[in-house]
Amino acid sequence: AAGDSDKPLRLLIAAPRGFCAGVDRAIEIVDRALARYGAPVYVRHEIVHNRFVVDSLKAKGAIFVEELDEVPDGVPVVFSAHGVPKSVPADAESRGLDYLDATCPLVSKVHRQAERQLEAGRHILFIGHKGHPEVVGTFGQVPEGAMTLVETEADVAKLTFGPDQELAYLSQTTLSVDDTAQIIAALVARYPQIVAPKADDICYATSNRQAAVKAIAGECELLLVIGAPNSSNSLRLVEVAERMGTPARLVQRGSEIDPAWLDGIETLGLTAGASAPEVLVREVVDALAAIRPLTEEVVRTAQERITFKLPRQLQD
Ligand code: SF4
Repeated sequence: AAGDSDKPLRLLIAAPRGFCAGVDRAIEIVDRALARYGAPVYVRHEIVHNRFVVDSLKAKGAIFVEELDEVPDGVPVVFSAHGVPKSVPADAESRGLDYLDATCPLVSKVHRQAERQLEAGRHILFIGHKGHPEVVGTFGQVPEGAMTLVETEADVAKLTFGPDQELAYLSQTTLSVDDTAQIIAALVARYPQIVAPKADDICYATSNRQAAVKAIAGECELLLVIGAPNSSNSLRLVEVAERMGTPARLVQRGSEIDPAWLDGIETLGLTAGASAPEVLVREVVDALAAIRPLTEEVVRTAQERITFKLPRQLQD
Protein backbone atom coordinates (compact mmCIF):
# COMPACT_ATOMS: atom_id res chain seq x y z
CA ALA A 1 0.00 0.00 0.00
CA ALA A 2 1.14 3.54 -0.72
CA GLY A 3 1.08 4.42 2.98
CA ASP A 4 3.78 1.84 3.70
CA SER A 5 6.27 3.18 1.24
CA ASP A 6 7.87 5.66 3.69
CA LYS A 7 8.63 2.91 6.12
CA PRO A 8 11.95 1.17 5.46
CA LEU A 9 11.59 -2.41 4.35
CA ARG A 10 12.96 -4.84 6.92
CA LEU A 11 15.05 -7.34 5.00
CA LEU A 12 15.94 -10.60 6.76
CA ILE A 13 18.76 -12.39 4.99
CA ALA A 14 19.14 -16.08 5.76
CA ALA A 15 22.53 -17.60 6.54
CA PRO A 16 23.81 -20.03 5.46
CA ARG A 17 22.67 -19.33 1.90
CA GLY A 18 24.11 -19.59 -1.59
CA PHE A 19 27.20 -21.49 -2.68
CA CYS A 20 27.99 -24.79 -1.00
CA ALA A 21 31.39 -26.49 -1.01
CA GLY A 22 30.42 -28.78 -3.91
CA VAL A 23 29.40 -25.87 -6.16
CA ASP A 24 32.50 -23.88 -5.21
CA ARG A 25 34.68 -26.83 -6.13
CA ALA A 26 32.89 -27.50 -9.42
CA ILE A 27 33.34 -23.91 -10.60
CA GLU A 28 36.98 -23.91 -9.47
CA ILE A 29 37.54 -27.07 -11.52
CA VAL A 30 36.31 -25.38 -14.71
CA ASP A 31 38.32 -22.23 -13.93
CA ARG A 32 41.51 -24.18 -13.32
CA ALA A 33 40.95 -26.40 -16.34
CA LEU A 34 40.68 -23.25 -18.49
CA ALA A 35 43.88 -21.88 -16.95
CA ARG A 36 45.75 -25.15 -17.38
CA TYR A 37 44.57 -26.38 -20.80
CA GLY A 38 43.39 -23.10 -22.33
CA ALA A 39 40.00 -22.58 -24.02
CA PRO A 40 37.92 -24.32 -25.02
CA VAL A 41 37.13 -26.60 -22.11
CA TYR A 42 33.95 -28.60 -22.60
CA VAL A 43 31.50 -29.10 -19.76
CA ARG A 44 28.92 -31.86 -19.89
CA HIS A 45 25.64 -30.38 -18.57
CA GLU A 46 25.37 -27.04 -16.71
CA ILE A 47 28.26 -27.23 -14.24
CA VAL A 48 25.79 -26.05 -11.56
CA HIS A 49 22.19 -25.03 -12.17
CA ASN A 50 22.71 -21.27 -12.45
CA ARG A 51 22.61 -19.31 -15.67
CA PHE A 52 24.81 -16.48 -14.35
CA VAL A 53 27.55 -18.96 -13.42
CA VAL A 54 27.25 -20.77 -16.75
CA ASP A 55 27.37 -17.50 -18.73
CA SER A 56 30.45 -16.28 -16.79
CA LEU A 57 32.27 -19.52 -17.59
CA LYS A 58 31.15 -19.37 -21.24
CA ALA A 59 32.71 -15.91 -21.45
CA LYS A 60 36.01 -17.44 -20.29
CA GLY A 61 35.91 -20.16 -22.94
CA ALA A 62 33.86 -23.01 -21.50
CA ILE A 63 31.50 -24.76 -23.91
CA PHE A 64 28.46 -26.46 -22.42
CA VAL A 65 26.99 -29.58 -24.02
CA GLU A 66 24.46 -32.16 -22.86
CA GLU A 67 26.17 -35.33 -24.04
CA LEU A 68 29.70 -36.58 -24.52
CA ASP A 69 29.24 -37.19 -28.25
CA GLU A 70 29.09 -33.39 -28.68
CA VAL A 71 32.66 -33.11 -27.35
CA PRO A 72 35.32 -33.18 -30.09
CA ASP A 73 38.34 -35.45 -29.70
CA GLY A 74 41.41 -34.04 -28.02
CA VAL A 75 39.80 -31.42 -25.74
CA PRO A 76 39.26 -31.72 -21.98
CA VAL A 77 35.73 -32.25 -20.64
CA VAL A 78 34.38 -31.59 -17.15
CA PHE A 79 31.46 -33.54 -15.66
CA SER A 80 28.99 -31.42 -13.67
CA ALA A 81 28.57 -31.33 -9.88
CA HIS A 82 25.41 -33.47 -10.15
CA GLY A 83 27.34 -36.59 -11.09
CA VAL A 84 27.16 -38.84 -14.13
CA PRO A 85 26.23 -42.46 -14.89
CA LYS A 86 29.22 -44.81 -14.96
CA SER A 87 28.88 -45.09 -18.72
CA VAL A 88 30.00 -41.46 -19.14
CA PRO A 89 33.58 -41.72 -17.78
CA ALA A 90 33.79 -45.13 -19.45
CA ASP A 91 32.91 -43.59 -22.82
CA ALA A 92 35.36 -40.74 -22.23
CA GLU A 93 38.12 -43.25 -21.50
CA SER A 94 37.36 -45.32 -24.55
CA ARG A 95 37.65 -42.17 -26.68
CA GLY A 96 40.88 -41.17 -24.94
CA LEU A 97 39.33 -37.90 -23.70
CA ASP A 98 40.93 -36.04 -20.82
CA TYR A 99 38.13 -35.66 -18.32
CA LEU A 100 37.76 -33.93 -14.99
CA ASP A 101 35.03 -35.07 -12.67
CA ALA A 102 33.36 -32.19 -10.79
CA THR A 103 30.80 -34.52 -9.17
CA CYS A 104 30.28 -33.28 -5.62
CA PRO A 105 32.03 -35.65 -3.19
CA LEU A 106 28.74 -35.91 -1.29
CA VAL A 107 27.03 -37.20 -4.44
CA SER A 108 29.93 -39.60 -5.05
CA LYS A 109 29.41 -40.87 -1.50
CA VAL A 110 25.84 -41.85 -2.42
CA HIS A 111 27.17 -43.52 -5.60
CA ARG A 112 29.54 -45.68 -3.55
CA GLN A 113 26.76 -46.61 -1.15
CA ALA A 114 24.66 -47.73 -4.10
CA GLU A 115 27.48 -50.03 -5.22
CA ARG A 116 27.90 -51.39 -1.70
CA GLN A 117 24.20 -52.16 -1.28
CA LEU A 118 24.19 -53.87 -4.66
CA GLU A 119 27.17 -56.02 -3.60
CA ALA A 120 25.33 -56.89 -0.39
CA GLY A 121 22.50 -58.26 -2.54
CA ARG A 122 19.96 -55.62 -1.66
CA HIS A 123 17.50 -53.94 -3.99
CA ILE A 124 17.78 -50.16 -3.63
CA LEU A 125 14.84 -47.81 -3.19
CA PHE A 126 16.03 -44.38 -4.24
CA ILE A 127 14.18 -41.32 -2.97
CA GLY A 128 14.49 -38.51 -5.50
CA HIS A 129 12.98 -36.48 -8.32
CA LYS A 130 12.57 -38.21 -11.65
CA GLY A 131 14.73 -36.80 -14.42
CA HIS A 132 17.03 -34.69 -12.23
CA PRO A 133 20.61 -35.19 -13.46
CA GLU A 134 21.75 -36.34 -10.02
CA VAL A 135 19.11 -39.07 -10.07
CA VAL A 136 20.10 -40.11 -13.59
CA GLY A 137 23.74 -40.25 -12.44
CA THR A 138 23.03 -42.31 -9.34
CA PHE A 139 20.81 -44.77 -11.26
CA GLY A 140 23.70 -45.10 -13.68
CA GLN A 141 25.94 -46.53 -10.92
CA VAL A 142 24.06 -49.83 -10.86
CA PRO A 143 22.68 -52.17 -13.53
CA GLU A 144 19.19 -51.46 -14.81
CA GLY A 145 16.54 -52.87 -12.51
CA ALA A 146 18.74 -52.76 -9.38
CA MET A 147 17.17 -49.52 -8.16
CA THR A 148 13.60 -48.26 -7.93
CA LEU A 149 12.66 -44.58 -7.76
CA VAL A 150 10.40 -43.43 -4.95
CA GLU A 151 9.22 -39.84 -5.30
CA THR A 152 6.35 -39.65 -2.81
CA GLU A 153 4.70 -41.44 0.11
CA ALA A 154 2.06 -42.62 -2.38
CA ASP A 155 4.84 -44.35 -4.34
CA VAL A 156 5.76 -46.32 -1.20
CA ALA A 157 2.22 -47.73 -1.03
CA LYS A 158 2.52 -48.89 -4.65
CA LEU A 159 5.71 -50.93 -4.11
CA THR A 160 5.23 -54.65 -4.60
CA PHE A 161 8.27 -56.12 -2.84
CA GLY A 162 7.58 -58.93 -0.39
CA PRO A 163 8.48 -58.94 3.31
CA ASP A 164 11.55 -61.10 2.67
CA GLN A 165 13.06 -58.92 -0.01
CA GLU A 166 16.45 -57.51 1.02
CA LEU A 167 16.12 -53.74 0.65
CA ALA A 168 18.10 -50.57 1.26
CA TYR A 169 17.21 -46.96 0.67
CA LEU A 170 19.27 -44.00 -0.47
CA SER A 171 18.32 -40.48 -1.49
CA GLN A 172 19.12 -37.50 -3.64
CA THR A 173 21.22 -34.90 -1.77
CA THR A 174 18.96 -31.88 -2.36
CA LEU A 175 15.54 -33.05 -1.14
CA SER A 176 13.12 -31.54 1.36
CA VAL A 177 14.29 -32.71 4.79
CA ASP A 178 10.69 -32.95 6.04
CA ASP A 179 9.20 -34.74 3.02
CA THR A 180 12.06 -37.21 2.97
CA ALA A 181 11.63 -38.00 6.67
CA GLN A 182 7.98 -38.87 5.93
CA ILE A 183 8.85 -41.02 2.96
CA ILE A 184 11.49 -42.84 5.01
CA ALA A 185 8.98 -43.39 7.83
CA ALA A 186 6.55 -44.90 5.30
CA LEU A 187 9.31 -47.14 3.89
CA VAL A 188 10.33 -48.36 7.32
CA ALA A 189 6.69 -48.99 8.30
CA ARG A 190 6.12 -51.04 5.16
CA TYR A 191 9.52 -52.78 5.12
CA PRO A 192 10.97 -52.96 8.64
CA GLN A 193 13.93 -54.94 7.23
CA ILE A 194 15.06 -52.02 5.03
CA VAL A 195 18.67 -50.92 5.54
CA ALA A 196 19.28 -47.20 6.07
CA PRO A 197 22.31 -45.31 4.75
CA LYS A 198 25.12 -44.83 7.30
CA ALA A 199 24.53 -41.08 7.36
CA ASP A 200 21.80 -38.92 5.91
CA ASP A 201 22.17 -38.58 2.13
CA ILE A 202 20.60 -35.09 2.15
CA CYS A 203 23.69 -32.93 2.28
CA TYR A 204 24.69 -30.43 4.96
CA ALA A 205 24.14 -27.49 2.58
CA THR A 206 20.59 -28.52 1.72
CA SER A 207 19.57 -29.05 5.33
CA ASN A 208 21.29 -25.90 6.58
CA ARG A 209 19.62 -23.72 3.93
CA GLN A 210 16.20 -25.19 4.72
CA ALA A 211 16.70 -24.66 8.47
CA ALA A 212 17.80 -21.05 7.83
CA VAL A 213 14.58 -20.40 5.88
CA LYS A 214 12.53 -21.91 8.70
CA ALA A 215 14.17 -19.48 11.12
CA ILE A 216 13.01 -16.38 9.19
CA ALA A 217 9.92 -17.39 7.19
CA GLY A 218 7.54 -16.98 10.14
CA GLU A 219 8.52 -13.32 10.45
CA CYS A 220 8.28 -12.49 6.74
CA GLU A 221 5.29 -11.68 4.56
CA LEU A 222 7.24 -12.78 1.49
CA LEU A 223 10.45 -14.73 0.90
CA LEU A 224 12.60 -14.36 -2.19
CA VAL A 225 14.79 -17.31 -3.12
CA ILE A 226 17.59 -16.62 -5.59
CA GLY A 227 17.89 -19.69 -7.74
CA ALA A 228 17.11 -21.30 -11.06
CA PRO A 229 13.86 -23.13 -11.88
CA ASN A 230 15.88 -26.34 -12.49
CA SER A 231 17.74 -26.06 -9.17
CA SER A 232 16.30 -28.72 -6.89
CA ASN A 233 17.60 -27.30 -3.62
CA SER A 234 16.31 -23.80 -4.52
CA LEU A 235 12.81 -25.11 -5.25
CA ARG A 236 12.81 -26.86 -1.88
CA LEU A 237 13.56 -23.51 -0.17
CA VAL A 238 10.44 -22.02 -1.79
CA GLU A 239 8.41 -24.99 -0.52
CA VAL A 240 9.76 -24.71 3.03
CA ALA A 241 8.50 -21.11 3.27
CA GLU A 242 5.17 -21.88 1.60
CA ARG A 243 4.51 -24.73 4.03
CA MET A 244 4.96 -22.26 6.86
CA GLY A 245 2.27 -20.12 5.20
CA THR A 246 4.73 -17.56 3.81
CA PRO A 247 4.45 -16.87 0.09
CA ALA A 248 7.77 -17.34 -1.68
CA ARG A 249 9.16 -16.59 -5.13
CA LEU A 250 12.12 -17.89 -7.05
CA VAL A 251 14.11 -15.08 -8.72
CA GLN A 252 17.19 -15.35 -10.90
CA ARG A 253 18.29 -11.72 -11.23
CA GLY A 254 17.69 -8.33 -9.60
CA SER A 255 16.05 -7.11 -12.81
CA GLU A 256 13.15 -9.54 -12.28
CA ILE A 257 11.99 -7.84 -9.09
CA ASP A 258 8.58 -6.24 -9.56
CA PRO A 259 8.03 -3.22 -7.27
CA ALA A 260 4.43 -4.39 -6.81
CA TRP A 261 5.74 -7.42 -4.87
CA LEU A 262 6.70 -5.07 -2.05
CA ASP A 263 3.23 -3.54 -1.68
CA GLY A 264 2.11 -3.98 1.88
CA ILE A 265 5.27 -5.88 2.85
CA GLU A 266 6.99 -4.84 6.06
CA THR A 267 9.38 -7.74 6.43
CA LEU A 268 10.89 -9.50 3.44
CA GLY A 269 13.03 -12.64 3.65
CA LEU A 270 15.89 -13.38 1.28
CA THR A 271 17.95 -16.48 0.67
CA ALA A 272 19.81 -18.15 -2.18
CA GLY A 273 20.07 -21.75 -3.34
CA ALA A 274 23.38 -23.63 -3.26
CA SER A 275 24.14 -22.82 -6.91
CA ALA A 276 23.51 -19.05 -6.65
CA PRO A 277 26.55 -16.78 -6.17
CA GLU A 278 26.61 -14.07 -3.50
CA VAL A 279 26.99 -11.39 -6.19
CA LEU A 280 23.37 -12.12 -7.16
CA VAL A 281 22.29 -11.65 -3.55
CA ARG A 282 23.87 -8.18 -3.62
CA GLU A 283 22.24 -7.49 -6.98
CA VAL A 284 18.81 -8.37 -5.56
CA VAL A 285 19.39 -6.31 -2.40
CA ASP A 286 20.39 -3.34 -4.58
CA ALA A 287 17.29 -3.78 -6.75
CA LEU A 288 15.10 -3.85 -3.63
CA ALA A 289 16.84 -0.81 -2.16
CA ALA A 290 16.19 1.09 -5.40
CA ILE A 291 12.45 0.51 -4.88
CA ARG A 292 12.32 1.30 -1.18
CA PRO A 293 14.77 2.15 1.62
CA LEU A 294 15.58 -0.96 3.59
CA THR A 295 17.37 -2.26 6.66
CA GLU A 296 19.36 -5.49 6.35
CA GLU A 297 19.57 -8.10 9.08
CA VAL A 298 21.45 -11.37 8.64
CA VAL A 299 19.93 -14.27 10.57
CA ARG A 300 22.50 -17.03 10.92
CA THR A 301 21.49 -20.51 12.05
CA ALA A 302 24.72 -22.44 11.30
CA GLN A 303 28.39 -21.97 10.44
CA GLU A 304 29.75 -23.89 7.46
CA ARG A 305 33.46 -24.60 7.23
CA ILE A 306 33.44 -27.58 4.90
CA THR A 307 35.63 -27.49 1.77
CA PHE A 308 36.48 -30.23 -0.73
CA LYS A 309 39.80 -31.05 -2.35
CA LEU A 310 40.22 -30.56 -6.07
CA PRO A 311 40.84 -33.56 -8.34
CA ARG A 312 44.51 -34.60 -8.27
CA GLN A 313 45.17 -33.42 -11.86
CA LEU A 314 44.34 -29.84 -10.85
CA GLN A 315 46.10 -29.59 -7.51
CA ASP A 316 49.13 -27.32 -7.51
FE1 SF4 B 1 27.28 -31.14 -2.87
FE2 SF4 B 1 25.14 -30.57 -1.38
FE3 SF4 B 1 26.29 -28.69 -2.80
FE4 SF4 B 1 24.94 -30.63 -4.05
S1 SF4 B 1 24.09 -29.06 -2.67
S2 SF4 B 1 26.92 -29.79 -4.63
S3 SF4 B 1 25.44 -32.36 -2.69
S4 SF4 B 1 27.23 -29.81 -1.08
